[in-house]
Amino acid sequence: MTTAPHLTTPRRSRLEPTQAFPPINRGRLDTLQVNLTYRCNQACVHCHVNAGPTRTESMEATTLALIPEVLAARGLRCLDLTGGAPELHPQFRELVREARALGVEVIDRCNLTILQEPDQEDLAAFLAEQGVTVVASLPCYLQDNVERQRGSGVFQRSISGLRQLNALGYGHPGSGRELNLVYNPQGAALPPEQGPLEADYRRVLAADHGVVFNQLYALANMPVQRFAAVLRAQGELESYLELLRRSHRDDNLTQVMCRQLISVDWQGFLYDCDFNQQLGLDAGGRQRSHLRDLLGRDPAGDPIQVAEHCFGCTAGSGSSCGGALAA
Ligand code: SF4
Ligand code: SF4
Repeated sequence: MTTAPHLTTPRRSRLEPTQAFPPINRGRLDTLQVNLTYRCNQACVHCHVNAGPTRTESMEATTLALIPEVLAARGLRCLDLTGGAPELHPQFRELVREARALGVEVIDRCNLTILQEPDQEDLAAFLAEQGVTVVASLPCYLQDNVERQRGSGVFQRSISGLRQLNALGYGHPGSGRELNLVYNPQGAALPPEQGPLEADYRRVLAADHGVVFNQLYALANMPVQRFAAVLRAQGELESYLELLRRSHRDDNLTQVMCRQLISVDWQGFLYDCDFNQQLGLDAGGRQRSHLRDLLGRDPAGDPIQVAEHCFGCTAGSGSSCGGALAA
């Protein structure tokens, strides 16, 4: 592993439980992660966005028009679309087409059940036609565990969505249509090791459901928003934070996602990551900055606004929107 030039205090040992999260700075910006809407067809227990069917926050057309301009101006590699259910934004498809025309990889963070919603019957075919990478939540390969987190009926609808994507080539090696699944633990525990878990997913989903996929991303639950409220109500928040702090590994600091990614909220304001967005922690802890500011300014080298929840990214094998950092 190389030593990142952006770490102000590189360390080798684990932190003592009482120490604060170490200061870190941005590297080269690679990915724009945009939260298009907080509206979602689901309302999952662990949702760090508090998304749901009644949320009305949605990016305006003038803000959305800045996205392709910023992708081009900064020479970015990837546009990562999230929400809520990003596909519910009325300009989702238009934006995907524009980004793909620029040669930018587009990731759709898809909850799978959206593929079964009325008016979305052609969504899977659209994603395939545009070569969009699908990253789909499936917090377990067992029905009970999925439905405890995501609601009744969600497992079978998710499997139907996966089969629909598989039928279009998604998840088949060499097809060029990438389908990655996201695992997160049921409660206040760290995710198990990603490699063996991926092997289990692959075996069970193929045998029981005829489903294939490319990679599994094992993510830690972040102690923010709805998940933090659930832990607090159960008296488990402090012990979970302590677990994250105790499990911190300095090696993970070189790869935390905020070093290459910047998060944009539905109003166009910038944050170091989606979690900071939910906590209202502005990018770099500086004066509020906006998507339009990226047209004329490269944020490389900026300080990242870190806080206690950041241990969720560096605990154990590490966690990012691309899975375990150690992997
Ligand atoms: S976790 Fe995903 S699918 Fe569930 S409510 Fe939040 S945005 Fe929607
Ligand atoms: S929570 Fe956000 S700011 Fe903190 S380390 Fe993780 S990605 Fe970076």
